[in-house]
Amino acid sequence: MEDKAVQHAKKKSIKAYKPAAKFCSKCGARMADHKDRFACGRCKYTEWKANK
Ligand SMILES: [Zn+2]
Repeated sequence: MEDKAVQHAKKKSIKAYKPAAKFCSKCGARMADHKDRFACGRCKYTEWKANK
């Protein structure tokens, strides 16, 4: 039972390491990940990344 929990946690951390793809909220296409923004190549929708 404990082993299963450890395995699950490992799987989760590996998954979390890979950044999730961002999808356009307008047309649903996958957005290009730029340094300061996400840009949709289909409808040109741009979502700015929060900058500190
Ligand atoms: Zn779009």
